[in-house]
Amino acid sequence: MHIINEISNLRLQIDALRKNGQPIALVPTMGALHDGHVTLIREAQKITDNVIVSIFVNPAQFNQKDDLQNYPRTLVQDSEKLSAIQVPLVWAPAVSAIYPKGFSTSMAISGLDQNLCGATRPGHFDGVILIVAKLFNQTGADIAFFGEKDYQQLAIIRQMAHDLDFDIDIRGVPTVRNENGLALSSRNALLTDQQYSDAHALPRALQNAANSIKNGQNIDSAIAKARETILNAGFKNIDYLDLVDAKTLNILKKWNGEEARLLVAAFIGTIRLIDNISIK
Ligand code: AMP
Repeated sequence: MHIINEISNLRLQIDALRKNGQPIALVPTMGALHDGHVTLIREAQKITDNVIVSIFVNPAQFNQKDDLQNYPRTLVQDSEKLSAIQVPLVWAPAVSAIYPKGFSTSMAISGLDQNLCGATRPGHFDGVILIVAKLFNQTGADIAFFGEKDYQQLAIIRQMAHDLDFDIDIRGVPTVRNENGLALSSRNALLTDQQYSDAHALPRALQNAANSIKNGQNIDSAIAKARETILNAGFKNIDYLDLVDAKTLNILKKWNGEEARLLVAAFIGTIRLIDNISIK
């Protein structure tokens, strides 16, 4: 396995990979790898041996300095995990390799970012699309894998790739959860044991609200009940808990059987967790 941190070297290694005639698949991550990431990589490996995993904690998408500083960084353990599952190439650039002195370009998405994380983390998705567009260009990947855990991110990346004519196939992978339903997340590593245990209220509240909505309960009251459960379980506050159209991400006040998604972001202590569930 090659761990690369210079763009010139990345290009050479990708040219070498391409010699086997198989497509290049990219799995972008911010590291602190868990089984959710490994699932994305396994999905990529069903299609090609040429899987590139990028590990980059992207400052441009953090709107809180503390969150960026505290984000877990575990490159040594990550490398061991990736080597064990036969990933041939890890792209782990320094911040200065991605945003060298004089870097002057920004990107902005509109529409799909008006609700949910887009509304509560201003500028976050502009930073996400900037790094993802750069990774697409740097790797020339044919396919890229993203988790549905970051549902709004997946929708926005699809839109950006379409708008900018990237010739890349974007695949979404269902959320990987622990045996008690909690979505795996690098941020779970920052929780105390008590917080980790309390955090399980999040998927349970989502599931209950989804069931109620499917059974015809009024959306506002299903959401109010879920909010109460989450706050009573020890979450400090809820950034949002909304039902949206699965494609447009517009907030739904009534559910008429269309494909919809119930999404939540909530703080437990200082840690912000997100989750979502499909309703159809
Ligand atoms: P991150 O390192 O958190 O930026 O995540 C890198 C990629 O892994 C993103 O496409 C995430 O949506 C995806 N991912 C993170 N957690 C999970 C999970 N529990 N299940 C599926 N995909 C995930």
